[in-house]
Amino acid sequence: MSKIALVTGTSSGIGMHTSVLLAQSGYTVVATMRNVAKAEPLNQEAKAHGVSLDTRHLDVQDGASITACVQDVMRTHGHIDLLVNNAGSGFLGTIEETSLEDLHQVMDVNFFGVWRMTQAVLPVMRAAHSGRIVTVTSVGGLIGQPFNDAYCAAKFAVEGLMESLAPVAQRLGIHVCLIEPGPVHTEFVASVREKATRSQTAAEVYAPMREAYLAGTMQVFATIGQQGAEVGRVIVEAATAEIPHFRYPTSATICELIARKYVDPTGDAIVALTGARLS
Ligand code: NAP
Repeated sequence: MSKIALVTGTSSGIGMHTSVLLAQSGYTVVATMRNVAKAEPLNQEAKAHGVSLDTRHLDVQDGASITACVQDVMRTHGHIDLLVNNAGSGFLGTIEETSLEDLHQVMDVNFFGVWRMTQAVLPVMRAAHSGRIVTVTSVGGLIGQPFNDAYCAAKFAVEGLMESLAPVAQRLGIHVCLIEPGPVHTEFVASVREKATRSQTAAEVYAPMREAYLAGTMQVFATIGQQGAEVGRVIVEAATAEIPHFRYPTSATICELIARKYVDPTGDAIVALTGARLS
């Protein structure tokens, strides 16, 4: 009996590659997306790698679509062994540039979406006394990034949720893992940028800092940016390791960066490091 993986946000990027890689590893993959009209790239990728996927509609911001999908998957397959919380989207702006409405949207996709999915799937795994919940957060879930106030708040919240859940879930036979990528070449940046142009209501004081930060970010993407499939392989590792780690930074560079936070409990070194990117 093959294991069933349910993956969110599979229309592009990390979710798309992860779905195909999991299928190649022997999982039956329920690849979900909020707009199934966008399934073609995923279908092409699956075809190119000789696997087939069970593609379904699921919007992590819509509780009814989550319930319907989980129930349908249970009717079809009878179990869910792996949940990959991957869906997410970015937002650029300081607190002054971010309306409460925008904040709600960012939190809804990146945090409440993960909460809803996990809450929907946990009872199934608890009944089976087995399962794995793998969530894609970000280095921005551990280290605040300038001009990513709302996004980092949401990703930090996910880290707190999962770190709290992990030991309890472990007692129930369920492993909880976090995947922490740095920059990854996906559709993500383009979608963040689009919102940035819409939210330029800030006082002029932020403009030069934002320009410096964005120029630095482009450089960081060019030098240490990973491919979606590389992150997908880390997710497969977390999904298939006999006893997985709790955290998976996705590259050696990101590991080193995170280590710099942990050695300085005052936080001063990390604020100096990220602050250096503002000029
Ligand atoms: P991506 O190519 O933009 O993929 C994001 C996926 O999430 C898309 O399939 C998108 O669907 C989906 N999504 C957005 N809102 C959704 C909703 N309400 N319900 C269901 N799906 C939804 O970007 P990515 O880089 O692969 O992002 C995947 C994850 O990696 C995210 O959690 C992101 O925060 C994280 N991450 C990315 C980077 C990076 O540099 N790329 C770095 C660290 C962490 P649509 O096509 O319908 O929009």
